[in-house]
Amino acid sequence: MSQVRTRFAPSPTGFIHLGNIRSALYPWAWARATGGVFVLRIEDTDVERSSQAAVDVIIEGMKWLGLDHDEGPFYQMQRMDRYKAVLAQLVEQGWVYPCYMSMAELDALRERQMANKEKPRYDGTWRPEPGKVLPPVPESVKPVLRFKTPQGGSVVWDDKVKGRIEISNDELDDLVIARPDGTPTYNFCVVVDDIDMRITHVIRGDDHVNNTPRQIHVFRALGVEPPVYAHLPTVLNEQGEKMSKRHGAKPVTQYRDEGYLADGVVNYLARLGWSHGDDEIFSREQLVAWFNLDHLGRSAAQFDEAKLRWVNAQHMKVCDNAVLAGLVSTQFASRGLSVPADARLAAMCALFKDRCSTTVELADWLSAYFVDMQPSEADLAQHLNAVSRPALVALRDRLAELPSWDAPSIQQAIKNTIGELKVKMPQLAIPLRVLVCARTQTPPVEAVLALFDKNTVLKRLQVI
Ligand code: GLU
Repeated sequence: MSQVRTRFAPSPTGFIHLGNIRSALYPWAWARATGGVFVLRIEDTDVERSSQAAVDVIIEGMKWLGLDHDEGPFYQMQRMDRYKAVLAQLVEQGWVYPCYMSMAELDALRERQMANKEKPRYDGTWRPEPGKVLPPVPESVKPVLRFKTPQGGSVVWDDKVKGRIEISNDELDDLVIARPDGTPTYNFCVVVDDIDMRITHVIRGDDHVNNTPRQIHVFRALGVEPPVYAHLPTVLNEQGEKMSKRHGAKPVTQYRDEGYLADGVVNYLARLGWSHGDDEIFSREQLVAWFNLDHLGRSAAQFDEAKLRWVNAQHMKVCDNAVLAGLVSTQFASRGLSVPADARLAAMCALFKDRCSTTVELADWLSAYFVDMQPSEADLAQHLNAVSRPALVALRDRLAELPSWDAPSIQQAIKNTIGELKVKMPQLAIPLRVLVCARTQTPPVEAVLALFDKNTVLKRLQVI
């Protein structure tokens, strides 16, 4: 097999949500799995709706998720001359003809067909045939160029998701491939690009499945065999509607801001329409090692935020502590808190990460180290009592005397206090947590305290 070349071809007309970016993940994974090339192409021919800001957001989202492209971004608007040259070639070879049917005539034709319960389609009035006399060319109409769709027979492809698809050519009317002002249309540009970029596998949303037979015809007219197609089923939101901004989808980068790990999101999205046995949790390296086009799901996948959180939590557990420290430091920065991503922060991440689904939750837990948190009145009332108070005072004195501030020494001080005052561990440990961390539960308390500055702990115990 020649080298695999895939592409992601977004239209920069809005923001990019998880459903959209899955159409980048799969071609990326397939290119990486095969030592191939992943191309980024920006389909910006809808000039009114496209913007550079939308392109930047797409690139930012891909970068965050680590979906690095090898070639591009190529912008369709910068390739107009190329499309026009290829169009001229098709005109020359007789694949294309001018059609002078006006908008009003097209509308009337459509209405007639609908009234007869026929599928509305262009009727080939201007298509030249041997022996056919064409109507006189109207002066006032600038023609579109139409592609001569082969008549009779069908177009067939073996879709990697949907299986064999066969469309009768009689279903397809003659596609407009250039507008009256000479600009080429979408389905034509895509084919020229896929040829020029030597794309071997087109992996895209199944909203394009109707374009595929038309595109295949243009490929063949240009003397090129079409690529392999894989049309991915829609991603539905939690309400079962097609995921979209209008239906409340969030932009991809919002998941970063909400504390999801890129590897967690990649894992979740990979499973949303592809499987490797029963494996739910896998690394990026495993995805690349396992990914193929034979296990793409056929039915629409439904987004489930709770599942995404769970997948992310599993990635939090195995995430490198220094990496987590960097992400938590960024979270703190967005809260106006400057916390360096140093070894101490990494140690805190190591201690707390098991109980967190996101780096936002992790930052919430670690806040106690950097801000004076006010314990709740209810916790104070419940846990500061006649039994715990003397124990806390005794412990504070012991802690103040400790020659070295580390978990074993702190643990010893706690044990000694418990033994001396005949209290149970929770009677001391819970109020201790409440006063120092404003929480009733934490990881082992001596490990939590050891990462505090000693004076901070003593100060927080001063209230007793
Ligand atoms: N630009 C199209 C879209 O954003 C994708 C076209 C394709 O992948 O062929 O839906």
